[in-house]
Amino acid sequence: MVVALISIVVLLILVVIALRVGLNREKVDEPVQEQLIHASGIYSIVRRSPREGISKVKPTEQEIRKYLSEQNVNIGKYPFSEQERSALVSLWNKTIKNSIEVVEQGDKEGVEFYYYDYEPEQCPECEPYISKGQFVSREEIFRHPQIIPPFHLGCRCNLVPYHGKENLRETTELGMIPLFEEDEIPPLPDWKLIHKTEEIKGTTA
Ligand SMILES: [Zn+2]
Repeated sequence: MVVALISIVVLLILVVIALRVGLNREKVDEPVQEQLIHASGIYSIVRRSPREGISKVKPTEQEIRKYLSEQNVNIGKYPFSEQERSALVSLWNKTIKNSIEVVEQGDKEGVEFYYYDYEPEQCPECEPYISKGQFVSREEIFRHPQIIPPFHLGCRCNLVPYHGKENLRETTELGMIPLFEEDEIPPLPDWKLIHKTEEIKGTTA
């Protein structure tokens, strides 16, 4: 009888301890969990390749080819030779591939900011919209894959990872200015604009 009573008391004590531990853990867990969500807000975004996002917002190669062939027929603003049209399509694909690789590589290195640069030449179609050195966060890239170059045919704009080491003031005229003033996507060039790059001019020279 005594043994049974002691057992019940011990059991009750254990139950109380277990409950308290449980309650305490909940209290402790709360801020930890919040932290995790906050952190995962960055990490889950950072880990996801921009490939899928880009494919949803950029025209397909088929659309581009169709558009370019129409330009040839309408000999208006952009009469192009066959070689020039192929060069524009290759440049488009090459720039998309490069942008994806830059961001994927940046994700491996924990890059949080990227800035825009023009290589190997300035891009007159982008100039009114994006200045060299303007930067975007990784999260903005995730939320708005539209801001990943190329922006239009023959675009020379590209994304450069900012490792926090480069002196942006030395590499740019403007210093580090965010592309986003508010949450909304700033205006960007229409993909149908065509810049005849030096390389493309060279294909028919
Ligand atoms: Zn451009």
